[in-house]
Amino acid sequence: KRADVLSSSTGTGSTSDGHAVALLANIGGVDDAVAAAATDVEGVGLFRTEFVFLSAKKAPMLQEQTDIYTKVFEPFGHDRRIVVRTLDAGADKPLAFADLGEEENPALGRRGLRLSQARPELLQTQLEALGAAASATGADVRVMAPMVATLDEASWFAEQVAAAGLPTSGVMIEVPAAALSARHVLGPVDFGSLGTNDLAQYTMAADRMEGALSDLLDPWQPAVLSVIKAACDGAAELAKPIGVCGESGGDPLMALVLTGMGVGSLSMAPSKVAIVRFALSRHSLQECRRLAALALSAPTAADALDAVRTAADAEL
Ligand code: PEP
Ligand code: MG
Repeated sequence: KRADVLSSSTGTGSTSDGHAVALLANIGGVDDAVAAAATDVEGVGLFRTEFVFLSAKKAPMLQEQTDIYTKVFEPFGHDRRIVVRTLDAGADKPLAFADLGEEENPALGRRGLRLSQARPELLQTQLEALGAAASATGADVRVMAPMVATLDEASWFAEQVAAAGLPTSGVMIEVPAAALSARHVLGPVDFGSLGTNDLAQYTMAADRMEGALSDLLDPWQPAVLSVIKAACDGAAELAKPIGVCGESGGDPLMALVLTGMGVGSLSMAPSKVAIVRFALSRHSLQECRRLAALALSAPTAADALDAVRTAADAEL
């Protein structure tokens, strides 16, 4: 099996019948970008920009940001997409320069896009720097917002991105509200990207930082799968592309299920790409749809995983 994985480990991602699923990298800065670009990933599906500034005391200036983004974009040339997430500050990723004071429930507080709305100058500087770096490198840069819950938030973000002269905007779907109303929320933007880490946290009301709750945070939980499915259906209704950038995209069996639900790109740690590419290459889109239906009808996370594992093996 190892030899099979390696022999199918280059080229673009697709099912056995040629349905394309872009395989992308999650990165957190320049070093990650250089390392990921040296592999055959089709681009970046999530650049967590807040990671670059975790130890910054003061808000990074325009030129400093432009220099960093330029170094991140350059290794990917002109053809490989780079999906950049604007600062996702707050909760598990506090930034000293974007602190709005103590909150009772930081994970439910003014984080992500909510913080950008409270401090619009931070977002504007970041978008300006991203635009400058995109122009300087000719890279295919697509900007998306974290923690979006409503259509109004998506509209506001799309306006900010357009005002900065950037051609493409998207939103993360990581709050159940956004998943359940994807047919509205995705209207003003070009794409959606499912953040399954936070989507599991908020669907299951289980803190993602709490190791003792890992069973509840399992993306195979029926409710999490249903919420993902709702988002995919909403995106399909609008004919908008939807991808996944949470950790679950790097699980080969889950990747088959997500593909069956209509996801068109999977972003993950680059080390996971080969095994996911191999799994996809062994199953048709029709089989993926059948696996998705099996997962969605299972009463527990363990049953969903079992059913999909058994059926996927049988199809090999
Ligand atoms: C997610 O929530 O699934 C996600 C991809 O973003 P992060 O893990 O950075 O919150
Ligand atoms: Mg998240």
